[in-house]
Order: sequence, then structure tokens, then C-alpha cells
Amino acid sequence: MKKITSVCPYCGAGCKLKLVVENNKIIRAEAAEGVTNQNQLCLKGYYGWDFLNDTRLLTPRLTRPMIRYQKGGKFTPVSWDEAIRYTARRLLEIRDSEGPRAIMTTGSSRGTGNETNYVMQKFARAVLNTNNVDCCARVCHGPSVAGLQETLGNGAMSNSISDIENSKCLLIFGYNCADSHPIVARRVINARQNGAKIIVCDPRRIETARIADQHLQLNNGCNMALVNAFGYVLVEEQLYDKEYVHKHTQGLDAYWQTVKDYSPEAVEHLTGVPASQVRQAMRTFAAAPSATVMWGMGVTQFGQAVDVVRGLSSLALLTGNLGRPHVGVGPVRGQNNVQGACDMGVLPNLFPGYQDVTDAAVREKFASAWGIDASRMDDKVGTRITEVPHLALEGKIKAYYIMGEDPLQTEADLGLVRDGFAALDFVVVQDIFMTKTAEMADVILPATSWGEHGGVFTCADRGFQRFEKAIEPTGDVKRDWEIISLLASEMGYPMHYENNQQIWDEMRELCPLFYGVTYEKMGDMGHVQWPCPDLDHPGTPYLYENSRFDTKDGKGKLFAAPWRAPAEVPDEVYPLVLCTVREVGHYSCRSMTGNCAALQALADEPGYVQISLQDAQKAGIRHRDLVWVSSRRGKVISRADVSERINHGAVYMTYQWWIGACNELTQDNLDPISKTPETKYCAVKVEKI
Ligand code: SF4
Repeated sequence: MKKITSVCPYCGAGCKLKLVVENNKIIRAEAAEGVTNQNQLCLKGYYGWDFLNDTRLLTPRLTRPMIRYQKGGKFTPVSWDEAIRYTARRLLEIRDSEGPRAIMTTGSSRGTGNETNYVMQKFARAVLNTNNVDCCARVCHGPSVAGLQETLGNGAMSNSISDIENSKCLLIFGYNCADSHPIVARRVINARQNGAKIIVCDPRRIETARIADQHLQLNNGCNMALVNAFGYVLVEEQLYDKEYVHKHTQGLDAYWQTVKDYSPEAVEHLTGVPASQVRQAMRTFAAAPSATVMWGMGVTQFGQAVDVVRGLSSLALLTGNLGRPHVGVGPVRGQNNVQGACDMGVLPNLFPGYQDVTDAAVREKFASAWGIDASRMDDKVGTRITEVPHLALEGKIKAYYIMGEDPLQTEADLGLVRDGFAALDFVVVQDIFMTKTAEMADVILPATSWGEHGGVFTCADRGFQRFEKAIEPTGDVKRDWEIISLLASEMGYPMHYENNQQIWDEMRELCPLFYGVTYEKMGDMGHVQWPCPDLDHPGTPYLYENSRFDTKDGKGKLFAAPWRAPAEVPDEVYPLVLCTVREVGHYSCRSMTGNCAALQALADEPGYVQISLQDAQKAGIRHRDLVWVSSRRGKVISRADVSERINHGAVYMTYQWWIGACNELTQDNLDPISKTPETKYCAVKVEKI
């Protein structure tokens, strides 16, 4: 028996654990003393390893390469030589006939690790010569990255997960941490026990609301109006930190010109939050000696998400809650390595280390290191994954190489996504399970899983952590970066790596932000937060020391925008708002957790719709009735979960299930800046079957 140090492959909390291995099988997971989890795990950490034992509860593991030689035909198992030769030939044909931008690629935000993501974006840029590389950050915290980069200079949590409990006030906006990051929820409870005031802004009575001092139960789709009302109170009641704002920020006059129309009284009818509660919340927030603003997808999955992120960051700036311990802004990233995928440049606008693809000097640096002529580097921002269906239907994207993502389950408006996929000439899926997307592929490249390889993840607070290989893989599978390297070499760009560390060190040399994060420094249990610019640097627990921001002038930008209504509002035919939410027992497309016996037993109801007592009664629906949920885009069967915790006028569904897949109903109104879809708001009706 042996114990291997790893990092949980699910959420961005980055919990360290020990995998206990016997006869090449995982037999249990134990909590380890990681910086973010300190000997605690949630149920996914304790029971989320079972899929490695190929339980076949949901789908069997992919164990050999397969090709579908003809559209509509069957998969043929093939050798790796044939799979690589065929894929390389098809990609080269499309690149050379249609141009590099006709090929889209993705990195993966989960078990593959940072090294693989680095290699994937290098493949896109150096071999395919396109910036068409993206990841699931696009559909979750893309707006946080875009908004915070503009207002503060870095698109990441400014503070540390472990420091949340030291803050004296937590403003938690659109973030149900109890379901999405249970160990972060633990920190919130600790903060409460340490005397912090908790203010929760959420339409549902979520778990955290139970321990909150104030729960502001705003109407769905009104985030910007409420955030502006918060700003109004801070300025109008002179609660803001004048000295700090004068010294460290810019834009107060323009900010006031917008928020002056959003007094809590003026927008009470819109937000649904009594003005007195809004005023009280900001008095508490401004009076706290330290305050932290946290948010989740209840902020980012809207068509006006970037504006709201900028507005939330302005609340921290107005009150001087940045640049010191126990304060900050915390967009807590969803999947375990979505921060890492962004760090490694799996983004269409940035090289690894947040270096701009439109900057000629940066392109020259990467081209020189990668041994190609800089003129071959794409100098324009590439395609986002949410744009692919539209561009495929227009004939502009012809091929899609997808690693560790399942867009046919997780993206908005699945009918549109399926139509887009049907229009593609060539789809390659590199994964560990036969996902919904893999079922439509032309080539399947089976990869090793978390547990079967090692590497580095970045958790939500910018902390790099190493994870180790625990067991030998079964089947004819290869490590992700090995597959990509074979393809690159077959396409005429020799790419040879011997191990993860070699890739990591190549990346470090090119990224000043990460240069000091060596394998040795991370060690077994280490957690090194970027920026870490040199070998002696210990890492950075909080950003913007002394409130020197990473913007051009070093000042934080105050920002407000007028509220915009969501794209599709309820009407007589579709009278309810549908909002997609998380499920504590499962993760993302459920391909991993659905294959874990204990998790499946704990949460095995395929598709349920949370509905208020009032709306259920109106429609003659009782708890656990089977119902149809329909929107203008589709209709799915579900089971009613009638609950007093749900607000009138809205229903909530998780997106993990194949039956009752709520993304059949959602719509892809994209935020104009981040291109993140508005999966938190569309109009539906619910009918008893
Ligand atoms: Fe920790 Fe998140 Fe894994 Fe739970 S799912 S153990 S909170 S990393």
C-alpha cells in the first residue's frame, strides 16, 4: 500500500489529498494538510476518485484510439500510428486549404494540468499558426478576467482562500459556495465564527444565506442595478474612503454620473430589494475594518457580466479594501485548473503569463523560443469557444480539436451547438470518457486521467500546486502532452518532451510572472502564488501591495454602467426565468463524478427543476412530479423540486444531466466583451406531465 500526494481534480479550492493505492487501484482518499483545505475535504474529494477504477456506471473509459472514417459511420479502433497520421493529415489539409483560423482548439481546465495546457496552446500557435485556443473560462469566469484586468490589472483573485476567514465582512454576490466550493464555504463559516459580518446577494435562499447577517434577495437579472445602488450609497452617504480613492483610484466623477440614477429607492421596484436593506448593507460593508467581495457564476453568466465585475471591483476600491491582508476581490474559479488554463495562455488573446498576442515584441519572444519565424504567428485575437457554432455554420471554422471539454453538454443552446458541430468537417476529441461531444467526433484520442499522470494545477487563489501520478493507466492511452507532441511532430514541427518538468521549465523561462515557481519550490505540499518573479521570491498571498495596481498609471479604475435587461424576458407563454446552477455531488459534465459509485448514490436524480411553492401551486405541480420544462429552443423532462428556498418567478436546474439537460433550453446571448453566454437567464414554462 502507498499514499500519493495529489490535488482534488474538481473545484478551484485546490484541496490537497492523499490517494491510497493498493495493487494499482485507488482504495480511498484522505485529506491532507494543504494550504487551502487544512485536512478537510468535501464529499467529491473523499469519493471522487472511483472513476479511475473504470466503474462503467455512466460510460466506459476510452482505452484505444478510434477513427470514424466517414460521417455517420461507425468508429474503427486503430493504432496510435494510424490515429496520429490520419489526424495530422486532415488538420494539415484544412490549415493549408482554409487557413489557420479555420481550426479551433481547446485546452482543458481539469485533470490534465498546466504543462499540457502550455503544450496545447503552443501547438495552436506554433504548429497551426492560430490564436484559436480557448477553455471553459469562457463560459464561467471569463468576465472576471476581463473586468478585473481592466480595473485592477490582473484577472484573478486578489487574496487567498485561506485568508477569507480573517476578513471582517464578506459581501457574497451570486455565489453559492456551499454547492460549488464546499471548502471555501467552510472558510466563510470560520469567518462568521470569527465575528465577520456576512452579506449575501442571491435570488435563492442559498445555504450561505442561513448564516448571513443580511440576505438581499434580489430579482434575477438585476445585478448591475443593485451594484450601482451599492455604489450610490457609498458615495451619497460619504461612506467611501476619500483619501484612498484620491490616492489610488481614478474615475470617481464619471462613476457618480452613472450611479447617481440608481438610488436604492429609485431601483427598489427593479431589484426587489428594499432600499433600507441596500443602505444597511453598505453601511456595514464600509464600516468593516477589512472586507472581501466574492462572486461566482451568478455574476458572470449574464450578458452584462463584465460590467458587473467592474462594478464589484469598484466597491472594493471605494472602500480601500485592496492591497493588504484580509481584504480583496475573490472571483472563485470553478473547475480545479481553470485558473491554470488561463495562466498557461489557453486564451485567444494571451500567451502564457498573460502576455498579449497583439504585441509584436511578445510574439517575437515566443517565436524565437519556439524556433519559428515570427511572421507565422497569428497577430490577431483568436476565436472564443462560444463563437464556434456560429462560425462553423458560416463555414469559417472547419475543424475542432477538443481536449477535455464537453461542449455538447455544457454550452448554452445545445441545439445551436449541435448544428454547429454538424457543419464541421473534422472533429478530434481527446478525452478519458465517451462524452456527448466524443460521440460526434471523427477521431478519438484516449488520454491518461488525473491519478494516472502528474503535473501542476493552479487553484483559484493563484496558487500553483503539484500533484503526482498514483497508478499505472489501463488501456492503450497516452499523456495529453505526449499526444499533442506526436501530432506536432507528424505535422512537421518536431516536439519532444521527456517529462512534465521539462515543459514547466520552458514555460517559466517565457513568463516573468511565474519564473520563480520551480518544481522544487512547490515540493510535495507547497502552494506558491503568482506573481513569483525570481527564484528567491516566496510567492504573493495578496496582490497590489500598498494599492499599487497593475494598470498603466498604477491606479484602480472606478467603473459603473447603466443596467441592461437580459436578452429574453418572461412573457405570457414562457412566464418563468430559468437559471442554471451547480449540484454539490457532481461536477461539470459529470463524466468523472457520474462514474463514482458513492457520488452517484448520493445524487442520482437525473434532472430536477427547483420551483417555488407559489409557482408550483399555480401550475398544479407537487413535489417530485414529473414535468416538462420548455423554452423557445427546446423541451426537457424533469422532476419538480418544490422548495420554499426558491424565489417566485424563477426556476433552477443543474446542467450535469443528459436527461433533463437544461442547456437544451438556455440561450447564447453573449456578453459583448467576454463572449460569455447568459445561461443564468432565459424564459421558460413548466408544465405537469
Ligand atoms: Fe476541495 Fe473542491 Fe475537491 Fe471539494 S471539490 S475536495 S472543495 S477541491
